[in-house]
Amino acid sequence: MEEQTRRSLIERAESKHRLAREELAALLADEGAEEEMAAAADRTRRAYVGDEVHLRGLIEFSSYCKQNCLYCGLRRDNGKAERFRLSRAEIVALAEKAKAAGYPTVVMQSGEDAWFTAERLAEIVREVKRLGLTLTLSVGERTRDEYRLLREAGADRFLLRIETTDRALYERLDPGMSFENRLRCLADLKALGYEVGTGCLVGLPGQTVDSLAADILFFQSIDADMVGIGPLVPNGDTPLGGEPPGDMRLVRRVVSAIRLLLPEANIPATTAMETLQPGARELMLRSGANVVMPNVTEGEARRKYALYPGKACVADTPDHCRACMEGRIRAMGRTVGKGAGGRRRA
Ligand code: SAM
Ligand code: SF4
Repeated sequence: MEEQTRRSLIERAESKHRLAREELAALLADEGAEEEMAAAADRTRRAYVGDEVHLRGLIEFSSYCKQNCLYCGLRRDNGKAERFRLSRAEIVALAEKAKAAGYPTVVMQSGEDAWFTAERLAEIVREVKRLGLTLTLSVGERTRDEYRLLREAGADRFLLRIETTDRALYERLDPGMSFENRLRCLADLKALGYEVGTGCLVGLPGQTVDSLAADILFFQSIDADMVGIGPLVPNGDTPLGGEPPGDMRLVRRVVSAIRLLLPEANIPATTAMETLQPGARELMLRSGANVVMPNVTEGEARRKYALYPGKACVADTPDHCRACMEGRIRAMGRTVGKGAGGRRRA
């Protein structure tokens, strides 16, 4: 892209937070735009959400999944996956430890495990909420009534990535799942008053920059409170095991573009990024991101929750992660968020 065009697109994204799909796709396709986009996104991040980096303690509580997403190590047809399911007491104990370690927010994530009926989950939600924590769920697709029950039990936020807005690609990669139902879930979550996080994978076979541009405009159109993206990390025990990993330079442009178009959103620097490129968490925190989700799961469960191989920090203890992240954040001249770090509105 010509330098003049590039500059004017980035300036418009920074001042108006709007771009047309073709303009966005052109920036995403342009490797030369990376540094300028990151600098503009970093300024936008500071202006809208400040220098705080919010830490969310991630509790991975079940590796059973009834779905069969082609990229994911937890898919039901992966006979090599080691399955585990934490008890209610174990989950609550991890939440207590997360609180003691200074995390104001915990995220409970799992495969789509039918053992955890909404009623069982709601009981756990109530116990975790009694600790005074802000609670995010990431347990996949449920009915509106189930989401309502969990919301009434006290769950504050929900993460459900759309994965890709290319409907045909979505239904090819997530066999048996429907794009319509994914949209329905996100709409129900919003209507029920959850803070809603969504996001996409970068590097899916057949995905284009045009479809990534459509993903970002979709996040904007639903007014997403949080947007988490991950590069595809190929897992040899899945049908996508032979694919190349997501391009981290493209991932960085996507993160920056999300900050420019959704200036108030919470944007995590994700574990998948760090897995593909050590140091990526800091790089992304300087390119628009403002959230990190350190793992607080302990022992065997931490290893067995294997979406992809080589997961960053898998052998570390939760206390080590907390101290390490705090040190890294301070070294960048940023501060660790004190409160729940919810969606800010200008
Ligand atoms: N089952 C719930 C769901 O799918 O929403 C929550 C857990 S799921 C493991 C969380 C996220 O992991 C998915 O949204 C997907 O984007 C990501 N993921 C799965 N496999 C991955 C892979 N091989 N590389 C990168 N991210 C992956
Ligand atoms: Fe299950 Fe979520 Fe993995 Fe899909 S991405 S297989 S729903 S855990």
